[in-house]
Parts: sequence; C-alpha cells; structure tokens
Amino acid sequence: MNREWLEKDFYKELGISSSATQDEVKKAYRKLARDLHPDKNPGDSKAEERFKAVSEAQAVLSDPEKRKEYDEARRLFANGGFGRGGFSPGGGYAGQQGGFTNDFNLGDIFGGGQATAADGGLGDLLGGLFNRSGARTSSRPRRGSDVETETTLGFREAAQGVTVPLRMTSPAACTTCHGSGAKPGTSPRVCPHCNGSGVISRNQGAFGFSEPCEDCRGTGSIIDDPCVDCRGSGIQNRTRTITVRIPPGVRDGQRIRLAGQGEAGLRGAPPGDLFVTVHVSQDKVFGRNGDDLTLVLPVSYAELVLGTTVSVPTLEGRVGVKVPPGTADGRTLRVRGRGVPKRDGVAGDLLVTVKVAIPQKLDDEATEALRRYAEAEKTSGFDPRAGWAGA
Ligand SMILES: [Zn+2]
Ligand SMILES: [Zn+2]
Repeated sequence: MNREWLEKDFYKELGISSSATQDEVKKAYRKLARDLHPDKNPGDSKAEERFKAVSEAQAVLSDPEKRKEYDEARRLFANGGFGRGGFSPGGGYAGQQGGFTNDFNLGDIFGGGQATAADGGLGDLLGGLFNRSGARTSSRPRRGSDVETETTLGFREAAQGVTVPLRMTSPAACTTCHGSGAKPGTSPRVCPHCNGSGVISRNQGAFGFSEPCEDCRGTGSIIDDPCVDCRGSGIQNRTRTITVRIPPGVRDGQRIRLAGQGEAGLRGAPPGDLFVTVHVSQDKVFGRNGDDLTLVLPVSYAELVLGTTVSVPTLEGRVGVKVPPGTADGRTLRVRGRGVPKRDGVAGDLLVTVKVAIPQKLDDEATEALRRYAEAEKTSGFDPRAGWAGA
C-alpha cells in the first residue's frame, strides 16, 4: 500500500465518480491521456504534471485489487479509524534526504513523495499521523514547506550535468525576537478580547457565528512593543545558498525535485523538498532532439558529390564525420553515442545534417571550371529535373 495514495483523489484526477465502472475508468483515462500526452504538448510542464497524475490514477483504479485497497484506505481515513501497523511510518521521506530524484521521468511516478504546498491540509495531517507511527495527537510535527526556485544553465552544462550554487530566499523565524514578534525583553500578551483564541463567537437567534478577533487580528496575542527587525511579524526572509548537482540531460523547462532540500520542518519533522525549474539557453552550434544532439554542417556541392570527411565538434572533443560520395543535400548522418548523456550512462546520438553552402562570388578560374563542369554534366546524361513535374 502506497502511503501517498491517500493524499490523492484518483477519482477526481480522472473526473469520474467513485462508483464508476472499470469501463468508465478506462474511457476517462484514454481521453485524458490522449489530450495530455507529452508528444502533443511539448514543453508544457503543466500538461506533463497532469499526464503523470492521470497515469498514476489509472494505474491504481484500473487494477481491481489496488482499487479495492485504495477505496478501503480512504474509507478508513474518512472515518478516522487508522490503526497501528497498517502503513509504514515516515514512508517517502527518510533515506531520501539530500538525495536526488528527477521529477520528469514517467518511471518515477511511483517513486518518492511529491507532496506540494498545494495539498496542504490532508498532506500535513497524514505526514503527522505517519511520523508518529499512526498515533493521532494534537501537536504533531509539521513537515517543512516545499520550496520552488529556478536556475538558468548553458546548453552544454545542461547536456553534460553541472553543479550549481542556488541562492534561495525563504521566510524563517526572526532571529532577533525568535519569532515572537515582540521586542527582545518583552513578550506578547494574551488578547483580553478573545482570551487568546483569536476568534469571537456570536449568537444570533438560532445561529452561532465565529469571526476573527479584531483586536488581535486573529492571532490571539497582542504585541505592545514590536520587534524592530521584523516589524512584529516574527518572520524574516533569509537567504541561503546550497549547492545542487544537476544531472546530465536536463531539458529546458524541466522541473527537478531535490528531496529534503526544502525548508526545515518544525520540532524535528522532515524537511520539505526543493523544486528547481531549469531554463536552458540556446547554443550557437548545437540543438537538441531528446537525447540526440543536432547540428547543421555546411558543405560544398563538390564535397557532397565526391564525398569527404569533416571534423565536427561534439560535447567532448571533435569527431570525424564521413560524408559518403553522392550524399543528398539535407541528409542527416548519425554518429552513435556522441549525443547527450543519459542517466543510465549511455548517450544519445549526434545528428549531423548537411547543408550546401553556395559561393556568392567565384574567381575567373573557378567560374571557368564550373562552366566546363556544367557542360560535362549535361554530356554525361545527368538531368536534375528528370521525371519532375511531368517533364
Ligand atoms: Zn523580530
Ligand atoms: Zn483577540
């Protein structure tokens, strides 16, 4: 049983009701998978996220055994009936801290936890439950928040992998007042209006209302002498720099998850994750097609006809590319293993597309030679438009 299942509503992901038949599950998935497929939405990370979520939902709901387990667990959870022992405490976090997982590979769907700030309440609640071996208590530790950041890499850095320092600014407890918001030496006092609860209850006829206390703005305490460094908020933005290893082969727009590199958890709870969105700048020579490296090789007409070997750059050193005699303009030659490194250590290919460069000016000797050549070409029987346009 995967702990993360509980944090997700697979039925909602597929837009079906929990009483949907297996057939309806299949149909809903097929339609969504078609619309969200990465091939149809290149570079759209939102669609990619959705595609993964939908695939995960399908994987669970289409398997009657797994679906039963999922339904059962959700029912238990809704009833607050979690017993001990059914689930492994602390699941997806321990052992991954400081580690690295990529957030894009479909193979990773069932990997580490992907809780984000957005699934707040339920995720936190479950995190707390599981970190305490299933025992529900009122003061559970809170997992640290996830942090989002961005970085821009050079084309070659992204292809080959690189270690980069990331500067991150995130809110943390003010060091001057230790988060109380009150000037050092003073302390906040309990709000007398709401007795520290932060809410005021009113009864109007048969109805009871609760609203935030106006005196303390819902905080339950009043600060007479605010801390000057945080102006009474108790929070400061703190900048930290961490060094992050970006694996080879990241693509522009890709989002990478670094487990355990987010904000620290309170009271010993696990830290959140760090998500890095990578931007990749263009290269003058190289382009990319998945794991293949592409480049356009300028050649002369004579080189294509007679054949030649040209030295071309790769990510590591140069390589001699053989252009066979009679190569057509625009043809792509493949050099195996000289493309972008992959995670399994193998590399993609280098795709070299030949493109004829036409001289704008020739000296007399070359012009004369070309004229003679044109005659000889005709005599040899070559007709560039043979069979073309009905001629
Ligand atoms: Zn302060
Ligand atoms: Zn109050």
